[in-house]
Amino acid sequence: MSAPRLDIDLAKVTHNARQLVARLGAVGIRTTGVTKASLGSPAVARALLDGGATGLGDSRVENLERLAGSDVDAPFTLIRSPMLSQVSRVVQVADVSLNTSPAVLTALSAAAGAHGVVHAVVLMVELGDLREGVAADEVADLARWADALPALRVAGVGTNLACQSGVVPDQANMVALSTAAEQVEAVLGRRLEIVSGGNSANLEWALSTADVVRVDELRLGESILLGTEPLHRRRLDDLHTDAFTLVAEVIEAGCKPSRPWGTFAQTAFDTAAPLRPPGTVRQVIVALGRQDVDPTGLVPPPGTTVLGASSDHLVLDAGDHDLDVGDELEFQLDYRALLQAMTSPFVTKVTR
Ligand SMILES: *Cc1c(COP(=O)(O)O)cnc(C)c1O
Repeated sequence: MSAPRLDIDLAKVTHNARQLVARLGAVGIRTTGVTKASLGSPAVARALLDGGATGLGDSRVENLERLAGSDVDAPFTLIRSPMLSQVSRVVQVADVSLNTSPAVLTALSAAAGAHGVVHAVVLMVELGDLREGVAADEVADLARWADALPALRVAGVGTNLACQSGVVPDQANMVALSTAAEQVEAVLGRRLEIVSGGNSANLEWALSTADVVRVDELRLGESILLGTEPLHRRRLDDLHTDAFTLVAEVIEAGCKPSRPWGTFAQTAFDTAAPLRPPGTVRQVIVALGRQDVDPTGLVPPPGTTVLGASSDHLVLDAGDHDLDVGDELEFQLDYRALLQAMTSPFVTKVTR
């Protein structure tokens, strides 16, 4: 089989989705499965839906288009504010988009009108993480104005925490989101369908609070795909952390001195390996580098240590492993490494 390759165990993805969908469902929260780290893979999307996700979200129009061109059938949400240059594609492929900007909302309405559809929008509220969102006390006015645009419907409000500044989702900011939802409902005169509390960073709050207030949906990517929560990067109970495995091939193996020699200047990427005790190491090079994956996000096989990485070479201390040219090594990935491996054209994706 070709290498490097990302082995994707779809049954594990489905298991993880089913677990989280059930736990959140018990407190009245739906799960939108986020496919962006899988490059909008239809196979991964099906695994999320098999696990009970009620819809799919992706930050890229291209990924949603890929899903729409497959046999995957679910409500699609664009989870990044549309680019003005893409509104026409957005209203054709997405049922819902997350929004903050009046200029984009105006353009979405015009595009939706031109295509004879009504596009649903979720207005994002800024609650302290300082990424996307409008001020909480301005959402109701924005909603009244956006809902009056001819081809738009305000379907809900949402927020996104943790990604930019590490702000933790808690009772206070979820109450603030719920209050904003109620203010919007007051000006629209109807109940909102979507109060989208956030991403995988919200799980800890959602699964421990005595009151989810008005939050009725989370958008989950990392927690389902990797079985970890992003606030402390801990494993979630009973979830698989190895649904994705990166496999790479050894291209050089042999004993080498543990210490480099000569005069020293910069390395290819400015990160010299720590000086090791003098001696010899069993060193292997695998055909894997920064063109394939972020090496800092890799967990190497037990008993081996990563010594360094450049664009195309990953150098390891093989420990006691008797490795030879042609052997394959398996690595676990964090979210960063997964994103990069999925988007590298050099990494083959194999689902099973
Ligand atoms: C990426 C993203 C998500 C999913 O985040 P995870 O941490 O992978 O669960 C949800 N919402 C928005 C707006 C995102 O950009």
